[in-house]
Amino acid sequence: MHYKNTLEFAREMDGSDPLKDFRDKFYIPIINGKQCIYFVGNSLGLQPKTTQDYIYNELENWANYGVEAHFHAKIPWVDYHDIFVEPLSKIVGCLLREVVVMNHLTVNLHLLLTTFYRPTKERYKIICEAKAFPSDQYALESQVKLHACLPDRQGLDPDNAIIEVAPREGEYNIRTEDIVETINKYANEVAVVLFGGINYYSGKVFDMKAITEAAHKVGAYCGFDLAHAAGNIELHLHDWDVDFACWCSYKYLNSGPGNIAGAYIHQRFITDVSLPRLAGWWGYDKENRFKMEKNFKPIPTAEGWQLSNSPIISMAAHKAALDIFEEAGMENLLKKSKLLTGYLLFILDEINANSNKKVGEIITPKNEEERGCQVSILMLQKGKEVFNALKKHGVLSDWREPDVIRVAPVPLYNTFEDVYQFGQILKHLIENVQA
Ligand SMILES: *Cc1c(COP(=O)(O)O)cnc(C)c1O
Repeated sequence: MHYKNTLEFAREMDGSDPLKDFRDKFYIPIINGKQCIYFVGNSLGLQPKTTQDYIYNELENWANYGVEAHFHAKIPWVDYHDIFVEPLSKIVGCLLREVVVMNHLTVNLHLLLTTFYRPTKERYKIICEAKAFPSDQYALESQVKLHACLPDRQGLDPDNAIIEVAPREGEYNIRTEDIVETINKYANEVAVVLFGGINYYSGKVFDMKAITEAAHKVGAYCGFDLAHAAGNIELHLHDWDVDFACWCSYKYLNSGPGNIAGAYIHQRFITDVSLPRLAGWWGYDKENRFKMEKNFKPIPTAEGWQLSNSPIISMAAHKAALDIFEEAGMENLLKKSKLLTGYLLFILDEINANSNKKVGEIITPKNEEERGCQVSILMLQKGKEVFNALKKHGVLSDWREPDVIRVAPVPLYNTFEDVYQFGQILKHLIENVQA
């Protein structure tokens, strides 16, 4: 694509964008009386205009039918979660029976680690990314401590059980070859390899296929936290042979703050009743669930990991958002995303080239295969001042200590004009804001 840093060009791109009508399906927050430039869909996706109706509908069902809505609502509540299987299987790339919507991301991570992290005296290590999202760090640390409570696991300690792979000196991103080398180095001691699908700080996409392959070669399980990947990049969990994964629905999936999350378990495990798990009645064989008998018999799909009955009000919001994904099509979104973020990278390069002093280092890989829509700019001058001023100028972005501004143009509702205007504002601020 031959990009141009002009308003005319940006408007031309928007005019010929096959997804241009989707922006109008979302509420865009207002700053200074104008729609803001919302570049924080990686943190909280915007509200679809249909969400309130979807929720209201279920409130009506509750009002009209009471408990009977479990069977008589238009989408009966007992099986409400089933409607997510198809759209999500396309978003994360898996078989229908491998995906389930339940709980929250960190809860699901714990449930999956309960199944897949079974440390023994010899095999007890977890390999993960250095500076993983804090919730993942705490989850891993507490999982190790949970097992360390057992009398025969004395000596198991997060300090020696958790091995972090970091970027090389002077680099910002972890190299795949270093991940593979670390896995091989601890070959017989590795129980689980757990990475993000995308590093939340730099926006780098991990090579999930290569990491899974390396983990399997040494006999370890491999899982991914897809918080920043689901709805943002192309995923093929099943074909990559990934063992387990989980994600949240409120970032790129636009389902509302803290809303219901998802999980994936490869089909080779879903009928294996010998695998340990934490169980609840909603994971019990559907035919016989209401017999309320002793002895847990799991549903032979990912649903077998469910604990509780479904929060329908939250799920209605998830449905409103996923219906829009279905309408737009993941392939179309990915196509636009590459163009849109490509444009942002072009604009940032222009600003750097035309300033007397380099403004920011782009720490997100430029290569389309290694990034989603998020771009992380390591600010080389006036970072915090520029960040604060961006908001006053109608741009919502986010700040990560010590000096990174993250911006994520989302293909469902951001425009090329957003990206162009952002460039204009950033350039103006760099030249005018006082350090
Ligand atoms: C956003 C995010 C989380 C958040 O976890 P919750 O359980 O949804 O609060 C966890 N991990 C990663 C990598 C994230 O980006």
